[in-house]
Amino acid sequence: MIFKHDILIVGAGLAGLRAAVEMAGIADVALISKVFSTRSHSGAAQGGIAGSLGNEEPDSWEWHMYDTVKGGDFLTDQDAAEVLAKDASRAIYELEHMGVPFNRTPAGTIAQRAFGGHTRDFGKAPVKRACHAADRTGRVIMDTLYFESLRKGIKVYEEFYLLDLIMKEDKVAGIVAYELATGAVHVIHSRVVLLATGGFGKVYKTTSNCFANTGDGVYLAYRAGVPLEDMEFVQFHPTGIYGMGVLISEAARGEGGILRNAKGERFMEKYAPNLKDLAPRDVISRAIYEEIREGRGIDKRDFVHLDLTHLGKERLATKLSEISSFVRIYLGLDPDKDLIPVQPTCHYMMGGIPTNLDGQVLDENQQVIQGLYAAGECACVSVHGANRLGCNSLLDLVVFGRRAGKKIIQELESLAFASLPDQSDKSTLTKIERLKRRQNGEKAGALRTEMQETMTAYCSVFRNKKDLNKALDILKSLMERYENVVIDNRGFRFNTDLMEAIELESLLNLSYIILVSAMTREESRGAHFREDYPERDDQNWLKHTLNRKTENGYRLFYKPVTVTRFEPKPRVY
Ligand SMILES: Cc1cc2nc3c(=O)[nH]c(=O)nc-3n(C[C@H](O)[C@H](O)[C@H](O)COP(=O)(O)OP(=O)(O)OC[C@H]3O[C@@H](n4cnc5c(N)ncnc54)[C@H](O)[C@@H]3O)c2cc1C
Repeated sequence: MIFKHDILIVGAGLAGLRAAVEMAGIADVALISKVFSTRSHSGAAQGGIAGSLGNEEPDSWEWHMYDTVKGGDFLTDQDAAEVLAKDASRAIYELEHMGVPFNRTPAGTIAQRAFGGHTRDFGKAPVKRACHAADRTGRVIMDTLYFESLRKGIKVYEEFYLLDLIMKEDKVAGIVAYELATGAVHVIHSRVVLLATGGFGKVYKTTSNCFANTGDGVYLAYRAGVPLEDMEFVQFHPTGIYGMGVLISEAARGEGGILRNAKGERFMEKYAPNLKDLAPRDVISRAIYEEIREGRGIDKRDFVHLDLTHLGKERLATKLSEISSFVRIYLGLDPDKDLIPVQPTCHYMMGGIPTNLDGQVLDENQQVIQGLYAAGECACVSVHGANRLGCNSLLDLVVFGRRAGKKIIQELESLAFASLPDQSDKSTLTKIERLKRRQNGEKAGALRTEMQETMTAYCSVFRNKKDLNKALDILKSLMERYENVVIDNRGFRFNTDLMEAIELESLLNLSYIILVSAMTREESRGAHFREDYPERDDQNWLKHTLNRKTENGYRLFYKPVTVTRFEPKPRVY
C-alpha cells in the first residue's frame, strides 16, 4: 500500500515522541516504530534527566554547560551544549506540567540527585542536578509523552520497520516500511522524514541496550549518502551486572554507592581524587579495567564490586527500587547486605547522523538535506562530544526533539511532496525475496554473535592498532559471509527471523565504520582510548570525524569543533 502523510517520524523513543507532541494538531503527523512504542529503549532509562533547577543546592546553566563540554573531552560543540544547558529547566518544568510524576523535595519541588561529572563551580564538587522518578525516569516520561501524542491525534503504525529511505534528487520523498504482523511492504510518501531510531549498542556482546537497538536509521542514512559523525566514540557504562550487561544506574553512586576492588579499597579515590565514584563514565570504566589488569579484580577475575550496603533499606526501596529488584532477580543477591559484581557494559553512541541545532541533517558540504531530520541518540548534534554525561541524553531528547519539531513546522510550507520514483520499493522487495529463497548458507544469529564478540574483544574501552586491524579483517569476512545469510522462517506473519537478518546488515556496517574511525583517530579522547596513543592531541585531533559511503568503499574527512566559551584544557577530576 501507499500511505501519505506530511510528516513521518521513525521511532517512538522520547526524541520521536517529543517531536510528535510539538507538531501534532498542526500538520498531518504519522509515526512508525518497529517495537510497540512504549517498549522503546527510552522506557528503560533509570537515573534521571539533568537540569540546573537548583532545587537542592545552588546551580547554574553555565556550570552545566561547562560540565557537558569537559565531560565530552572538549569535542562537544559548545553552541549545542549551551542550548542544552540553557533550555534544561524549561524542558523539565514542561514535562512536569504534562504530568510526569517526578520525586519531590520536602518543600514540594522536583527532587534532584548527584550524577557523574555534574559539578558546581566549574568542577569544584558534585552537585545535585538529576531530576528523577525513583529509578524509572525514562518509563514515566515515555508514558506521559506517548499518551500526550495520542491525545493530540498523531497516527501511529506500531511494529512497522523502516527498511529504506526514499530520496528523489537529494530530497526526501518518504520511506519503505515492513509491517511485522502481515509481512506487507508499504511505501509511506511524506514531505518530511524525522529519524529518531535510537542507538546501536547491539554491535557489542555486553550491552545495556535493548534488542531493538540495531542502528537501522543510522545505517540507512549512511546508505543514502549521509556522512556519519564521530562513530569511534562508544560509551561503556561502568556498572553493568557482571556477565549480563544489564544496567545498574549511576543513580546508585549518585545516592552514595561505592566501587571496590578485591582488597575492598575504594579505588576511585586514586583515579579521580575530587569526584571519586562520580567521575564521568569513561574515566571510571578505564579505572575498573586498570584494577582488573593489575590483579585487583574480584577473585582475580574481570569484575569489581559495587557496594550499596551502607545506603539502608529505605533508600534502596524508595530511590533505587528497580535496580534493587534487578540485583535480587538476576543475581539472587540482596543489595542491602551483598556486594554487587559489575563490569563495564556498552551503553551509548555519541556519534551518528550529523545535524544542526534544529535537527536538520547535514550532507558532506554541511548543507541541509531537504526534508530529512534526525533527533535523539541516532543523531550527532554534537552535544555529547567524546563522552556523554549521565542524564544528559534524556535532556537531549526532549530539547532537540522539540527543536526539530518546531523547525519542521516552520519549514513545512516550503517542503512540497517530492514525487515518488518508479517502483520505490523494488530493491526492498528483491532483498526480502532473495533472503526467503536462499536455501544454503549461514544463520544470522551465528554471524551476529561473532561480530559482537569481535567488537567486544578488540574495540571496547581500550583500543590499539593491532587489535583494530584484527577486528577489521574479521568484519570484512563477516560482511562477505553475510551475502549468504539464510533464514528458517519463510512466512509472512511476525517473521522476526527475517527482520533480524536484515538488522544484521546495519549492525555489520556500523561496526565496520566504528572500527575504521577508531583506527584513524590516533589519540585518546573521552571514550576513545588508544593504548598506542594514550594522550589527547588537540593540535591534530580537535575535530569531528566524518565517514561517507562512496562507490568503492568509504571516505573519511573532518570538520572543526565549535568552541565558544571554554578553551580546551586537560581534564582533571
Ligand atoms: C538501560 C539504560 C538506561 C539509561 N538511563 C538513562 C538515564 O537515566 N538518563 C539519561 O539521560 N539517559 C539514559 N540512557 C540513555 C537514553 O535512555 C537513550 O539514549 C535514549 O532513550 C534514546 O532515545 P531515542 O528517542 O533516541 O531512541 P529510543 O528510545 O532507543 O527509541 C528508538 C525508536 O526507534 C524505533 N526504531 C528503530 N529502528 C527502527 C526501524 N528500522 N523501523 C522503525 N522503527 C525503528 C524503535 O522502535 C524505537 O521506537 C539510558 C540508556 C539505557 C540503555
